[in-house]
Amino acid sequence: MRTVLDARTSSGYGSRSRGGIHGVLDVETALTAADTAAHLRDRAAAGEKISGPAARRALTAAASTPRFEGRLVKRNFPQQAAAFLARDGIVLYDNPDAFLICAFKHANALCDPEPGATAPRQYNCRAGCGNTVRTDTHAVQIRARAEAIDRQAAHVPAKLARRLRRNADQLRAAADHHAATAQPAEALT
Ligand code: SF4
Repeated sequence: MRTVLDARTSSGYGSRSRGGIHGVLDVETALTAADTAAHLRDRAAAGEKISGPAARRALTAAASTPRFEGRLVKRNFPQQAAAFLARDGIVLYDNPDAFLICAFKHANALCDPEPGATAPRQYNCRAGCGNTVRTDTHAVQIRARAEAIDRQAAHVPAKLARRLRRNADQLRAAADHHAATAQPAEALT
């Protein structure tokens, strides 16, 4: 929904003000991004290794992102949220479908965001993007997903099974790449 509204705003379809639904979405997006930053900090503090071209930038961003314990929202928070989201390159978006955190920097994005968009098109996430960050938890999730796909492949026609196994192999390759390149937070900051 945020992506759709960004597109309409940048194309002149919607209001450029941050009132109404835009303000609500800004607040919710900022709170979610703060949660993502907190999770990254917690995982790094627990000793998880981090990989991806944006790993260093994401850790720096996470360190400066406030926690919003209890989700207390003040009256001027929509404006603060909009300003926070406009800081290109340091807002962290959880992307569980792609098993990664997106440290969204517009110029790097391979998902073709609208000009001026402050959020990625997560449904169009592409491998090899310079905004990618993965933790050990993501790698575990990736391997679990690959195993689930392999189990599924055992019960479908051969042609579909081959495609599923290719997909599983690509996922395992992503997890292997994480294992080979991930570093502890201390080495990245
Ligand atoms: S391609 Fe994926 S990692 Fe890159 S900006 Fe888009 S959602 Fe983020």
